[in-house]
Amino acid sequence: MCETARAWLAGRPDPAALLPPDALVAAALQLPYITVNRGHEPAIATLDDTVERVACLLLGGRRPPVPLRPVEPPGGCVCQRLPALAVRRVLLSGSSRECSQVLLIDGETKSDLDVMFELAGADVCWPGEAEVPPEPGSTRLWVRRTEQEGFVLLEFEQHAECRHRERRLFSAAVARDLLRAHPALFGGREPGRAGPASTTAVRPYLPYPCDLLVCLPLRRWPSEEYGARRRPADWPPPGLVRALCATPALLVPVGCTPQEEHQWRLSFSRHEYAVYRALTDRQRDCFELKSYYLKTALLWLAERRPPGDWEDVYGSMLAVLTLVAEAAGQRRLSCYFNAEMNVLTGRTEAELTELAESAASLAGRLTSCLAALTASCLQRFTVEQLLERLLPPAPAPPLDVSRELAEGCRAPMVEPDHGADILLLCWLDRAENVEPGDPINFRRRGLCLPGLRDRWLVGEMEEE
Ligand SMILES: [Zn+2]
Repeated sequence: MCETARAWLAGRPDPAALLPPDALVAAALQLPYITVNRGHEPAIATLDDTVERVACLLLGGRRPPVPLRPVEPPGGCVCQRLPALAVRRVLLSGSSRECSQVLLIDGETKSDLDVMFELAGADVCWPGEAEVPPEPGSTRLWVRRTEQEGFVLLEFEQHAECRHRERRLFSAAVARDLLRAHPALFGGREPGRAGPASTTAVRPYLPYPCDLLVCLPLRRWPSEEYGARRRPADWPPPGLVRALCATPALLVPVGCTPQEEHQWRLSFSRHEYAVYRALTDRQRDCFELKSYYLKTALLWLAERRPPGDWEDVYGSMLAVLTLVAEAAGQRRLSCYFNAEMNVLTGRTEAELTELAESAASLAGRLTSCLAALTASCLQRFTVEQLLERLLPPAPAPPLDVSRELAEGCRAPMVEPDHGADILLLCWLDRAENVEPGDPINFRRRGLCLPGLRDRWLVGEMEEE
């Protein structure tokens, strides 16, 4: 077998010629490294229902609404009471709902399930909003804007009997602790913290570790700019834009300094799922580039680039990365749903410099990185398995993969045509005796790519 491979490699000495970017992108997209879970909304609905049932039971109820008992602050006033506060519904958010969940080849999910607990019993109004009577029993809260667009404070409405002059705040910190006061949600253990969320893994009730976060629905969102925006590519379609503008935004208890403890942030997660579903398959292929910044850039580009341009997935990935690099360099990436909001707010100068450099570096070395990703994935198989599967004109027997892989990933294996290119990479990688199986760490500065040496990746291959 090794002789066959050597002969094959010897006959094709020019690696650069073997790696047209489109073929590489196509190969990477077909790897079981990533599952782009298209069309599995029924599964999400079932999982939503399961998560909601479990969460309600653990909170001591059967079905929503399940009452929550906020801790009364010391020295609290009658205006600060939230007697009707309850969980109105529980639903998945994040990558599982976006259908962009990344599964590693060993079947392990990269991201936990994000679970949102939507609250009822607080009636949140924008300043100047036409006076609508609150729901009976609910507490009126007023939004106060801060200097950082998109971050707000929530103030309790003053009562006649209030003795204080300033309105009291419903702090994000208090809201974050609402769930932590329910030990059953955390299996009786101390809840972990993941940013503003509390983490739990209540096996066997919930199948995956979960990040739990409360959110407050608003009556609407300030959508004037979004509704009136010029859209050269006619995307999203006008009907969807109208529907989005009519969908209320959420507030999540996430602040930025100096008032991090008190601030809430506008969240457009409901809107995001709707626009992601409206992307074409080619556009969604760019989801391989994960992270909120990349997705934000993708949505801005979807509005501007002609539909035909998206057929070139490699070019699209480059465009997305370039936009992020430029935005990070300018310290400003506008939120797609609220252009005045800068999604980079809260990042330090050092983090922004690193983001700009990493995105530019990734754009400059995208073929190398895709190759490394692909090779790193395939490296877990034996050379014989790869040869059997990849070398033309051999037929394509199924690889003997682990049970986890078989159960966790149903994506097809690499097409033989593309696989031949990938094999070359694996082969060279092995020849250099780099430790196999190391995960690729894209986050580290300089895009360290264990499994394939930078020297070979960036130096020799691109020079050739
Ligand atoms: Zn008061």
